[in-house]
Amino acid sequence: MPYKGEFASKTSHSEFLKNPEVEAFLNGCTYLTPPSDEECQSLADRFVAPLESDAKLPSFIIAIDGSNYEASIDDKLPSTKVGYIKIGAVLIDLEQFGALRVGKFVDPFKVADLQNNNSALTFSVPSANIRWGNKPTVRESFRALVDQQFCGIRTRFNETDPKTSLRSTLFYLASRRPGELGTNSDARRLKIHKCPECGAGPVEVQDNPEQQYCSFCHAEVYPTDCLRIWEEVQDYQSNQVAISRLMLILEHIIPIHYMHYLYNSAPLLLSGMAFFVDDPLAVFGNAAWLHRSIMIFLQEVNRKLAKNHCLPLLVIGLQKTGQVVDHVALINRFVPNNRLVAIDDDYRYKYILAGREASHNGFGYETYYGQDFIYKTPTGRSFVFALPYPYSSKDEAGINFVQEKTKFENYPQLPVAIKLITKLESDLYENAVVPIALAHHYTAISLEPGGKVLDLLTKKALNA
Ligand SMILES: [Zn+2]
Repeated sequence: MPYKGEFASKTSHSEFLKNPEVEAFLNGCTYLTPPSDEECQSLADRFVAPLESDAKLPSFIIAIDGSNYEASIDDKLPSTKVGYIKIGAVLIDLEQFGALRVGKFVDPFKVADLQNNNSALTFSVPSANIRWGNKPTVRESFRALVDQQFCGIRTRFNETDPKTSLRSTLFYLASRRPGELGTNSDARRLKIHKCPECGAGPVEVQDNPEQQYCSFCHAEVYPTDCLRIWEEVQDYQSNQVAISRLMLILEHIIPIHYMHYLYNSAPLLLSGMAFFVDDPLAVFGNAAWLHRSIMIFLQEVNRKLAKNHCLPLLVIGLQKTGQVVDHVALINRFVPNNRLVAIDDDYRYKYILAGREASHNGFGYETYYGQDFIYKTPTGRSFVFALPYPYSSKDEAGINFVQEKTKFENYPQLPVAIKLITKLESDLYENAVVPIALAHHYTAISLEPGGKVLDLLTKKALNA
């Protein structure tokens, strides 16, 4: 125990390294080492120049960005915590300048307003030592609140209609789920794999706002229990893991919520739009099943667009951090400008995930719904982005998915994606938050499902 005014010396990493036991431990570990210059060169040789394209850029972008925060509710009670998640969704009009501009200049207050996410969807959840309502545990409070907010007025496209809520979009995704936990496309019901109270299952619930009960033990159950975030919620410890998990899920299903709404109201409008998600296109953890439903939904939309001779949906998962981004930093100086590569499994397991056992079914079989690309623009800025896989299933008959997923020609929206990233590159490069980056030069409007912006867009499309 240090005396007042005296700080305990922090043992540094280098001091640990001098310890023979630590040294022995590190020698026994397998980890990624930077590739040699020769390896970098041979990796760089895999990059090719992207095809020139005269494809039309999308008129609108919807960019989604999440952030989360766990806080003590009082300095005197540091172990009593709440969690907040903000999901900002911004509509960028690529053709129109104006809303954020005052004369020739961007209005800094309006950009700041977007930055503060004042109009973002906010989710509040109890964390350590907090119960809500009359719920006996943190976990039950967490479950009830998540469900309430998924169904809440702010997530509805039509305030008076709960069927337009984010929770109904979740029912929709769950109905596309293959296997015995799906409902054969019946989006009025949903199956929870097991009751959080008695453990029996599956438990079926209906898409209506009334309280639902377990058919086995009659405890209260919630449709959003199917996301299984509650399994990671603790009563007395930080719930940062569960809070981050919920945020990541929201970052993927909120864009689907918008797409689903437009798909039902003005599907062809989707062809002229781009969605930016700021992650790889993948859902991890207990809710990973969503990735399959998302694949199925995107193919459903694309089939409809194709029937009407429209380009497929453009969904771009832009990654600013992570293992692939680290890898790009290592090889970047060997890659010429204006080059593109699709990361195949050999490449990934050898140079990005070295030491990890290759998945039998291919990388990301249980989690990913999109393919990662590395693109270096003609001016030399590098981006890691993903596009949705062009299939509804990785086991589609007659295709070798692991091979097909890396072929450029299977991604008709690839040239537009490249063109769009090139157009926006300086903004995207400088600011890690896509909506904010784009707001500096384009008209940006904060979106929330209950807002009328999408209605206007829809009307515009219907009259066109
Ligand atoms: Zn039960």
